[in-house]
Amino acid sequence: MKSKLRIGLAGGGLLGRLCAWRLALRNHEVTLFDAGDFERPGGACWTAAGMISPLSELVSAEPEVYHMGMRSLDIWPQWIAELERQTGMSASYRQAGSVVVAHPLDKAELAQFQCDLNAKLPADDALQWLDREGVAKLEPGLADHFEQGLYLPSEADVNSRLLLNALLAALRQSGVRLVSDTLVECSAHRMHWSSGSERFDWVIDVRGLGASRNMTGLRGVRGEVMIIETSEVSLNRPVRLMHPRYKLYAVPRLNGQIIIGATEIESADMSPISLQSTLELSSALYALNPAFAEARVVETSVNCRPALPDNLPRVTREPGLICANGLYRHGYLLGPVVVGQVLDQFHSEKQYAA
Ligand SMILES: Cc1cc2nc3c(=O)[nH]c(=O)nc-3n(C[C@H](O)[C@H](O)[C@H](O)COP(=O)(O)OP(=O)(O)OC[C@H]3O[C@@H](n4cnc5c(N)ncnc54)[C@H](O)[C@@H]3O)c2cc1C
Repeated sequence: MKSKLRIGLAGGGLLGRLCAWRLALRNHEVTLFDAGDFERPGGACWTAAGMISPLSELVSAEPEVYHMGMRSLDIWPQWIAELERQTGMSASYRQAGSVVVAHPLDKAELAQFQCDLNAKLPADDALQWLDREGVAKLEPGLADHFEQGLYLPSEADVNSRLLLNALLAALRQSGVRLVSDTLVECSAHRMHWSSGSERFDWVIDVRGLGASRNMTGLRGVRGEVMIIETSEVSLNRPVRLMHPRYKLYAVPRLNGQIIIGATEIESADMSPISLQSTLELSSALYALNPAFAEARVVETSVNCRPALPDNLPRVTREPGLICANGLYRHGYLLGPVVVGQVLDQFHSEKQYAA
C-alpha cells in the first residue's frame, strides 16, 4: 500500500473534521467536501451540547456505548492537547464530572436512575451520592433547591463550536483542501458532484443524515436546544434534572451562556423549535432554579441526530470506499473511537486510535 494516499472525505461535520485532521497529521493528501459553509456547519455537530458522558448514557444505551465512551475519555485529552498546541485555540474541554439532581417530590426518579446505573456499571465506585451539602459544594447555584443528587466524576464535556472551529483551523494549517457548498455523492474511489467528479485512492463517506439515501435504515432523530444567558445563576459542569415528565440537561458555556436540551423526537423535521418544546425546556430550567426566569434566550437551535436501527455507530468498508455513520446522540462521546475504527480500515497499524 502506498504510504501517501489521496483521500476524499464527504461531510465536514464532526466525524469529517476529526478524520481529516488525523489523516493530515499522517501526511496524507486530504480533500474535505461539505454541502454548506465550514464556518457554520449545518450538521448535528453544531447544535450538540458536547457532553462526553458514558455513565449517564449507559442507563438508556447499549453497554458497547459505555465501553467505547470510556475509551474516548482516554483519547480526548491527548487530542485536545495536540489540537491546542497546533492551533493555539481552546476547545474548552473540561473533565469536571457531571451532576444529576431531582426535587424531593421526584426523588424516586433519581433513585431509579442510580439503581439502573449500578445494575449496568462494571465498577460501583464510579458515582457518588450527594446530600444537600455535597450538591452545594459542587454547584453553589443549586444550593437552596436540591437536597440530593449524584456526582459522576469521570464525565467530561467540550464546547462543540470551539472544537469545530479549532479543527477547521488545524485543517487549514495542515494543508487540507476544503471544498464548501458542494453536495456530493460517494462511490468507490470517486467523489461525484453536479458538474463533475474526482478520483481518490479512498473515499470516506461521513455525511451523517446526508447519506440517508445510501444507507438503509438511517433515520433522523430531532433534537431541540435553547441557549440562554444569565448572570443570576452559574453552573460549573453539566447538570441533569430528573423529572417524571421531561429530562433536561444544562451545560454551562463561556460568558454566562448555558445550553439547555434536548428534546428527542423520532422525526427528520428540521423546522424551528416548537412552542411545546420551548415551554418544556423553559419549565424544566425554571425548576432547576427560579432565578433562571430572568435569563435571556439568545438562540434556539434544531438538528437531527443520524441514527441507525440499533442506535449504534457503524463503519463499513469496500475497496476504495469507507462509510461511517449512526453516531446518534453520541458523536462527541464516541468520536475518537469511531475515527480510530475508520482509519484502521485502510491502515494495518492501530496507531491512529490514540
Ligand atoms: C440537539 C443535539 C444535542 C446533541 N448533544 C450531544 C452531546 O451532548 N454529546 C454527544 O456525544 N453527541 C451529541 N449530539 C450528537 C452529535 O451531534 C452527532 O452524533 C454528531 O454530530 C454526528 O457527527 P457526524 O459527523 O456523523 O454528522 P454531522 O455532525 O451531522 O455532520 C454531517 C456533515 O455532512 C455534511 N453533508 C451532509 N450531506 C452532504 C452531502 N451530500 N455532501 C456534502 N456534505 C454533506 C453536512 O453539511 C454536515 O456538515 C447531539 C445532537 C443534537 C442534534
